[in-house]
Amino acid sequence: MSVNINPKDMIIAPGSNQKSAIYVREQKGKYQRIRRGIAMFLMTLFVILPWIEIGGFPAILLDASNQQWHIFGNTLYPQDFPIVAGIFMVAAFALFFITTWLGRVWCGFLCPQTHWLFMFFWLEEKIEGSRNQRMKLDKQKMNGEKFIKKSLKHASWVLVAFLTATTFVSYFMPPIELYSGIVDGSLGIQPWFWVSFFALCTWGNAGFLKEKMCLHMCPYARFQSAMFDKDTLLVGYDTERGENRGRRRRKDDHKEMGLGDCVDCNLCVDVCPTGIDIRNGLQYECINCGACVDACDQTMSQFNYPKGLISFTSEHELKGGKTHLFRPKIIGYAVICFVVFAAMTGYWFTRSTVELTVLRDRNVLYRVNNDDFIENSYQIKLLNKEPTARSFSVQAKGIDGIESSLNKSFSIDSGEMSSLVITLTADPVNLPRRVLPVELIIRDMESGEVVISHESRFYSE
Ligand code: SF4
Ligand code: SF4
Repeated sequence: MSVNINPKDMIIAPGSNQKSAIYVREQKGKYQRIRRGIAMFLMTLFVILPWIEIGGFPAILLDASNQQWHIFGNTLYPQDFPIVAGIFMVAAFALFFITTWLGRVWCGFLCPQTHWLFMFFWLEEKIEGSRNQRMKLDKQKMNGEKFIKKSLKHASWVLVAFLTATTFVSYFMPPIELYSGIVDGSLGIQPWFWVSFFALCTWGNAGFLKEKMCLHMCPYARFQSAMFDKDTLLVGYDTERGENRGRRRRKDDHKEMGLGDCVDCNLCVDVCPTGIDIRNGLQYECINCGACVDACDQTMSQFNYPKGLISFTSEHELKGGKTHLFRPKIIGYAVICFVVFAAMTGYWFTRSTVELTVLRDRNVLYRVNNDDFIENSYQIKLLNKEPTARSFSVQAKGIDGIESSLNKSFSIDSGEMSSLVITLTADPVNLPRRVLPVELIIRDMESGEVVISHESRFYSE
């Protein structure tokens, strides 16, 4: 096997046969089954997750108006930013790891753009017919048949786009509220704006921009080749085996004719969603969807040739060597991923279940009350991050006999932030200095445990 390509060249390799309009032929086969299976699984998850209730909230609800993210029964607040940053970091390094190992597997098998693109292709094929029929339809002048087919296609695309948009928006507002609002006409302008916006984006992306989104707009497509090495899995054509390409009959002895295994059926080009010819070498337009692998395997079977003229392979394998799984870059990404994940998990399990902010009364440093005791006031903001209401008390420590005005139980609902004024009172005989440290202690009244504390100052004279 041989091929003269450096995967890093893919970023600059020109597209070989970009056409103005791409008519994709439907292809069946192993990789298309895998992609469809993954698509069904991910789309089912996408649709059902907002409908599954955990802890009184949808499994995933990104409630921006209340600044709370409900994720599988846990609630994240703006104060939990390290967790969100950790999630993004783990996702990024997991993507680097997968890309170095399996190439553009994200693009071909996981990216929503690809799944929606293939879903729109499927609808187009069912309504307008096969590749040849669609090409013929587009060439003919507008008539009743063409009008009906085009209208039906766009109606089906718009319907899918609308359902996609409502599902997406139901991650930001409870789905019952969203759908009942749509049905009874009570949905506000803002949710309608977002539903229309995302529906338009879906229709535009999967129906019109199609492969142009991957080729010209997706930043990931541009920088991922920097992660490739000679062991990265890519879709490649075995030039040594395939060339010279040429047409022949099944019974012909192609070796005698001086031909390689490529029968030049052009199927690998016809099924390619980005319209490239993989026989021209690796190109950045290739999203590794595997359609050309299935198409070529089908042709090879028809001619009784071994499969794998186009295959998922690596540059090392194409040169007759072996693909190495364990290499420093891959191990590095896996280690970083694991370390960030462990740090995030540690942070999650040790994070406080309340958030406390304490501000001293800025107008008056201290007051002397009717009993000649010294009083200091503070404003405290207490956020209850637990999924249930809780009762707290605030006590003070650090000065003998100091009293807190909030030493009795008060309740805060789940997710609520209470703003309270607390006054600490101390006997002047216990205040040897003008400024003394004092600790405010928040206690959970049910468990009796101290949940958080804060050090401040107590002023006198
Ligand atoms: S060249 Fe093959 S794997 Fe790459 S995008 Fe086209 S059909 Fe998919
Ligand atoms: S599908 Fe295979 S045999 Fe047909 S043109 Fe492509 S590489 Fe050649």
